[in-house]
Amino acid sequence: MSADIVGHWIDGAEVSGDPGRAADVFDPATGKVARRVALAGAEEVERAVAAAAAAFPGWRDTSLSRRTRVLFAFRELLHAAADELAEIITAEHGKVISDAQGEVARGLEVVEFACGIGHLVKGAHTENASTGVDVHSVRQPLGPVAVISPFNFPVMVPLWFVPIAIAAGNTVVLKPSEKDPSAALLLARLWQRAGLPDGVFTVLQGDKEAVDGLLDHRDIKAVSFVGSTPVARYVHQRASAAGKRVQALGGAKNHMVVLPDADLGQAADAAVSAGFGSAGERCMAISVVVAVGAAADPLVAAIAERARGIRVGDGRLGCDMGPLVTAAHRDRVAAYIAEGERAGATLVLDGRDAALGSDGFFLGPTLLDHVTPAMSVYTDEIFGPVLSVVRVNTYADALALVNANPYGNGTAIFTTDGGAARRFQHEVEVGMVGVNVPIPVPVAYYSFGGWKDSLFGDTHAHGVEGVHFFTRGKVVTSRWPDGGQRGLSLGFPRND
Ligand code: NAD
Repeated sequence: MSADIVGHWIDGAEVSGDPGRAADVFDPATGKVARRVALAGAEEVERAVAAAAAAFPGWRDTSLSRRTRVLFAFRELLHAAADELAEIITAEHGKVISDAQGEVARGLEVVEFACGIGHLVKGAHTENASTGVDVHSVRQPLGPVAVISPFNFPVMVPLWFVPIAIAAGNTVVLKPSEKDPSAALLLARLWQRAGLPDGVFTVLQGDKEAVDGLLDHRDIKAVSFVGSTPVARYVHQRASAAGKRVQALGGAKNHMVVLPDADLGQAADAAVSAGFGSAGERCMAISVVVAVGAAADPLVAAIAERARGIRVGDGRLGCDMGPLVTAAHRDRVAAYIAEGERAGATLVLDGRDAALGSDGFFLGPTLLDHVTPAMSVYTDEIFGPVLSVVRVNTYADALALVNANPYGNGTAIFTTDGGAARRFQHEVEVGMVGVNVPIPVPVAYYSFGGWKDSLFGDTHAHGVEGVHFFTRGKVVTSRWPDGGQRGLSLGFPRND
């Protein structure tokens, strides 16, 4: 295979696909095509799933202690390769190196969580539930499972699922985003070096065709998807119709409520970091600041002052914010800014100038004030460095706004009033809530997931919910002959 075409990873080796099906992979900071990626068709899907299915019985029956040793070894290798992975992420995604390093670190946390798999899949045992009868429960792996990931976290999102699925005894086919496919291959090499048998972890590069092939395949038992809401909804419906267990995490519109009693300097720092970090291409990015009452004027001024200082540029060169992932996405975000202005929002800071004089997909921080819930900059997930400020009069107005939004991924409240914060965390209809924390991504031993249109299915990622997703429960009721308990009884068994 040409070194310029990123291939699949099947049965322990990189393999090329149909040379006629490949897509460009850009360096977003230069705007140039850096390499190409293979796009799987039906034949590669079949080959990848067959490898995962063939590896399943052996891996399922591998003892927990051996599996755990592979996880520990992978943890060490991942830690050692963190900088290399971060460079690959930045080269294809565009986010700055420190941000890419943070992404790897958050993925590493899930690997560390999965190292405790022995404890996590422990069942329960009840002695003498009925006279001479014992009951115990076990959790068993499902089989080959698919993980389908988005472009914005090419390492962290796969690691939300893959370590737990593998530790629990499943085999995994990962379908990375075709926009930044290379990191997945390094992960595959690390798994192999950690001692994972061939076929337990497979990488299938591709687009919708590969996804559909996995969703329909009879041997794929479960699907973990992360991406935009329309695709998440579609994946959930199609895979559910095919009888699979599905968790499909979708898009977001995360509100940060700022009460007048908040430390406005701290709130402005948080809004700028969470709004413009990773150029706003995070599902937990803050995209709406809800300024309550007297907070609005000083807060908008403080955000604008900080945002003006953000250095936009090549993520490898020590700036604060990199480019967007593709030219098409940059243009789409720019169109939203124009639309917001046309609809009557006040353009406090216009990032469209940052694109001048460069072929990279740059767009600077943009701040829109006096945004209303009817404007498209409010209703749509923009997924770029565009922060909208909606002004409301009271806490109750702010809460009603957040709860009326169809998305429910993350939210935050900034206040020094403990009572208001306590009320907000109780009343808000969102899956992940921050109190003076703008991006409340749960640690690995809790579960990550939104509500409403931000998640289809009922199981969140990682933590105990992740372990449950990748295992199924079995309860065994047993009686051993001990000389007693003879004779027929055709009545329904009672626990006497
Ligand atoms: P996307 O929906 O375009 O793509 C996600 C995955 O689905 C990719 O692997 C892609 O190849 C595949 N895909 C795309 N279109 C498809 C189709 N029509 N049919 C089948 N498969 C398809 O998302 P993206 O642009 O890569 O990622 C950004 C989105 O992901 C944002 O909406 C963001 O909010 C969301 N996201 C959500 C979370 C979360 O935890 N909720 C985390 C990260 C990203």
